[in-house]
Amino acid sequence: MEHLGHTVEDRIILPAAYVVTIAYAEKDASKIKEKLTEIAGMFEGEVLSDRIAEHEWENRFKLMVVKRMGPSLVPAEVIVPLNNLGEVMSEIERKVNQPIVKEGVIIHKGREGKPEAVILGFIPSDQRRFSYNFVFGLVLTIIKIAERHGGRAYSTGLYFTKKAEDVLGSNRLERLKKFKKEVDRKGIFNPKKVLSSGIIGSLMKIVSIFEPLIRPFGNAVITQVGERYKKAIRGIPPDVAWYAYSCSQCGYCVDECDQFYGRGWESQSPRGKWYWLREYMENKVDWDQKMVDTIIACTTCELCNQRCSASLPIEPSWMKLRGKLIHEDGKMTFPPFEMMAAALTKEGNIWAGYRKNRDAWFPEELREKHGPNKKGQ
Ligand code: SF4
Ligand code: SF4
Repeated sequence: MEHLGHTVEDRIILPAAYVVTIAYAEKDASKIKEKLTEIAGMFEGEVLSDRIAEHEWENRFKLMVVKRMGPSLVPAEVIVPLNNLGEVMSEIERKVNQPIVKEGVIIHKGREGKPEAVILGFIPSDQRRFSYNFVFGLVLTIIKIAERHGGRAYSTGLYFTKKAEDVLGSNRLERLKKFKKEVDRKGIFNPKKVLSSGIIGSLMKIVSIFEPLIRPFGNAVITQVGERYKKAIRGIPPDVAWYAYSCSQCGYCVDECDQFYGRGWESQSPRGKWYWLREYMENKVDWDQKMVDTIIACTTCELCNQRCSASLPIEPSWMKLRGKLIHEDGKMTFPPFEMMAAALTKEGNIWAGYRKNRDAWFPEELREKHGPNKKGQ
């Protein structure tokens, strides 16, 4: 267990192996457990403890928690026919010499009604280093392996627009093109994505030809996995700096945030604040009173900690920053708080009453017998 302000993080150590989480009805538990133990044993596997199982199940929506290891990720997502899954995994392991976190979803009836596996692969990396670009080249390696085994890229995004037909199928692609022409004549939605014939897509097609030459560079990058807080960056505490880069910008935290729904601006949400901190650490912006207010306006409700798909200690990070900004850097809080602090220092009363009137509340008729400063004292 790790205590982070009010938040308690329950950490467990997983074995270095493929971990499968299986959910079933309670009434079938005894039969399934017995069979599972038998099947796992046949493949040198084991059934993990109930504590691990419960932890994995409780955190099943924390999909991006792996990003805290990086603090960035290089994502590689492919779809492959289920009967080729084993070969694809073996070839990836042979050709990609970087740690890859793989998650998979099985589609019962995929393309042409056949079962397929969607593999979400994440290579932990650090976008603050130049070598991050080389690791990106390995995405091409993984896509090529999938294609060689009858699979395809999972989506087109910005980089793989030239694969749109393969990803979407020719029928769907034609329908999408027609629809976009009708409703988005000026090409405002999803610019340069999916249907674009832009320069990035063409460039990626060419780069893909040179994949075998690029691969050794990606494989040569030394990847460290795990949270590594080193030094403060422009005064941002090392752990908070790390979390800023670990945020995947998924947005799960935005709508529920007290501060966000009170103010309505993205900048007031945890996602917006992490983004701003990254810009700050890269010297693109500076503190001003508005931004100090943004950090200290958090209501400390902690809903964001519950929602965060990367399980980031968000509220404790704002608390740490609040302490740094106000106590260490002497920045101003909100005007009413400043008035209260000044009144407290000068008159010993946050409500700005004079020290000499501190006992004015005491009933006159009781003063002689019971009151402060009784006559004669
Ligand atoms: S703790 Fe702060 S940042 Fe998190 S949801 Fe609540 S108001 Fe928003
Ligand atoms: S802080 Fe918000 S946007 Fe960032 S990973 Fe967590 S839930 Fe997603």
